[in-house]
Parts: sequence; structure tokens; C-alpha cells
Amino acid sequence: MTHDDTIAAIATGAGAAGVGAVRISGPKAGDIARAFLGRDPTPRHAHFAAFRDGDGELIDRGILLYFPGPHSYTGEHVLELQGHGSAVLLDALLRRAIVLGARLARPGEFTERAFLNGKLDLAQAEAVADVVAATSEAGARAALRSMEGVFSARVDELLAELIALRVHIEAAIDFPEEEIDFLADPVIGANLATLCANLDALLVETRRGVRLNDGIAVAIVGRPNAGKSSLLNALAGQERAIVTDIAGTTRDVLRETVTIDGATLELADTAGLRDSDDVVEREGIRRARAQLERCDVALLVTDEAHARDDLAFFEGTPAQANRIVVINKIDLAQATAHRAERDGHDTLWLSARTGDGLDALRAILRDLATAGAGDGAFSARRRHVVALEQVRDHLERTADALHGSHAGELAAEELRHAQQALGEVTGAYSSDDLLGAIFSSFCIGK
Ligand code: GDP
Repeated sequence: MTHDDTIAAIATGAGAAGVGAVRISGPKAGDIARAFLGRDPTPRHAHFAAFRDGDGELIDRGILLYFPGPHSYTGEHVLELQGHGSAVLLDALLRRAIVLGARLARPGEFTERAFLNGKLDLAQAEAVADVVAATSEAGARAALRSMEGVFSARVDELLAELIALRVHIEAAIDFPEEEIDFLADPVIGANLATLCANLDALLVETRRGVRLNDGIAVAIVGRPNAGKSSLLNALAGQERAIVTDIAGTTRDVLRETVTIDGATLELADTAGLRDSDDVVEREGIRRARAQLERCDVALLVTDEAHARDDLAFFEGTPAQANRIVVINKIDLAQATAHRAERDGHDTLWLSARTGDGLDALRAILRDLATAGAGDGAFSARRRHVVALEQVRDHLERTADALHGSHAGELAAEELRHAQQALGEVTGAYSSDDLLGAIFSSFCIGK
């Protein structure tokens, strides 16, 4: 797709010098380059130029880089003007570029054009925004890998396997007399099983990618007055949750995002998960349960007397979530802070009030947040996990269909849906709404 308009924006942090630059993309980028330089720019060559306004007045001196399409970030002609980075001068440069025929770019419009011109797929384009927004080094590195296409390559491999299987099954439908024989071919079942196994492996890595991108979701559970709010406050280092001596005061799920050594932790304090007649409290409990169902780590806050009974609070946490038992209020029990495995659970003794033992908990959470960050880990978004889970559902239904009547047609239909869901990850199939939602969340100049 080619655009007939030329866009311009200030891209801070971009450019070789790491200072601000004005980035221009579109058919007029070459003309604008000539206007600034006074002659034809050499492609991909750093020109030192005097940037002047319409009256010949000097705006700034800097580097002019011209990338003729299609060998550019957007696939269009791209011009980058790197000045001294002052916001005022960059603004003057941008205004001049607009007088010369460009218009202001919308947020994410450069990357959107790169996507539309086939320079990046959708998962890579999203990773551009994630690189920019990364709050941890591990997260930034993972996002960079996704931007380079590591995640997309995995999705494409799966797509190729899926298409091969689809072709096989569609062929069976085309020969109705032999359909039964075709579908009974053990190769189909074996290929489907391999596909499911590969998808499951990718799902595990994609979930890890979301954690690297968004941080881990930690749900704090336990009976009222166990010290959940106090622990949240202690970890957050700010007074956020309401701490009182009256049972049941934490009526809602309170969220707090904490960054520990570059790992992002999303904490959720939950209302004591107990039956209640109080409407507000019931709503809190409902949300707490929902939070629990999607957490990466469940922290049970309890004390020595209740520890065993309270293990029931872990019910409802996902199978893959890490479970940690916190024996709180050791200052009252005159116990020492330590960590041990008890009843099969990683258990920590600490005091939310004095802060004794809190560092050990922080270290554990930090390690969980960055677990598996090396080894080619890539970043991902929740929407990718949702899409892959849909693929999983369709594959399961494909397997079921193969054993029933109208096997070929039903299986083919499920595989078609599976392919579509998989294609949504990289944007092979995407609605305008989805693209709008993704690119509008970018910052301007990207
Ligand atoms: P929640 O209902 O589980 O959120 O419990 P809170 O955080 O509101 O704490 C209940 C009460 O226990 C408050 O009075 C806290 O000050 C107290 N508390 C919490 N943690 C500790 C601790 O480690 N030591 C002591 N002595 N008291 C604590």
C-alpha cells in the first residue's frame, strides 16, 4: 500500500546521536531533503547541513539522512534531520518540513506505514512500542527480540504446519468417495498432535513474554486481618491500601504496580475471600476471585496458627501460578525471618510491620518476574495469548471432529478458524479496529 501524503514528527530518542530528530516519510521526503540540503542527497549518507527556514535564516545545523524507499523503516522515502535536540529548534524544523509539504504524523503512524508496507508484521510493530515503553532491561531485550521477528518466526512456523494439515484435510473433502480412507490416515492424527504440542510450547513462551512485558500479576490472599494490606503497602513503599483492625475493610481489589530492580510487579490486594452478606464486600470478593484466576503468583498471607487451614485460599489459582506462603507478624511471635519449604509450599517468615524478611520476598518476586528472560526469550502481549488459546480450542475441536460424522468438513472448518486466529497474531488477518487500537497507543514519531 502506498500513501500519497508525507508525514513528519519529532522523534525523540531516535537517530544515531540519540538526540531528538525530525522524521519525515512519504513521497515528498526527497524534495524536502533537497530543499534543506540545496542539492540531491546521497542515499544513506550522513550529510552535515545547515537547516534554514523560508527566509534563509538558520534554524540549526545538523545531520541529514535520506533513505529512499523501499529500503527504509516505513518502506517509503524517509528523511531524518538530527539537530541539537532542543525542543524549540526541533519544533522550528518540523514547522519548516510542514511548509515544504509534510503533515503532522499521528501516533504510531510511521510504524503503521511500515506494517502496511510489509516491513514489519503486527507482532513486530507492537514490539516497537514495547521496546519504547519497557521499564526493565530484561523486558527491553525481550521486546527487541520480538521486534527482530523471533516471536513472529515461531508463529509462522506453526502457521506453515497448520496450513499443511489443512491442505491434507481439504483434499479429503474433494474426494468424497475416499474421504474415510484419507481421514483415517494416521499421518493426520500424528501431525495434529505435533501441531498441538508445538502450540502448547509456544503458549508457555508467549505467557512468559507477557510477563516480561507487563510484569507479573501477584495476587495477595488470606483471611481478614492477616496483614495483606500491610504487606502490599510495605512492598509498594507507600500508604495505599487501607489498613485497619476491623475485619473486612479491604472491600475492593487494590492494585499497585511496583518495580523491583527492573522487574515490574503488579500487586492486587484482595478482600478476604469469605462468604459475605454485604453487597459491596461481595463485589470485592468477586473481583478478588477473578484476579486470582489470572495471577502469575499467589501470595498467601497468614500466621502460624492458621497456616494449614489457610492453604484453602490458594484454590482457584491457575495451575501454572507460583504459590508462596507468607507467615506474617513474626515480630509478635518473636520468630526470625527465614525461608523454608513446608507442606510442599515455599514458605517465608516475615513481618510486614517491621519490614524484617521483606527483602527475601522482594528477591523471590524479582526472580519470578525475570525468570527465563535469557535464552532468546521474546516479549508478547495478552492479545497474543488470547489468540493462541483460541487456536488451541479450534485444534481440540478438530481432533474431536475427526472422530465424528462429516469429519472432513467439520475438521476443515475448525482448522480454517484456527488459521485465522493464528493469523491475528502477526496481522495476516486483522480488522481496522484492531489496527486502530494498536497504533493509537504508540507515541508520536514512532
Ligand atoms: P488485611 O485485612 O489482611 O489486609 O490486614 P491489614 O494489613 O489490614 O492488617 C491487620 C492488622 O494487623 C493491622 O492492625 C496491622 O497493623 C497489623 N499487622 C499487619 N502486619 C503486621 C505485622 O507484621 N506485625 C504486627 N505486629 N502487626 C501487623
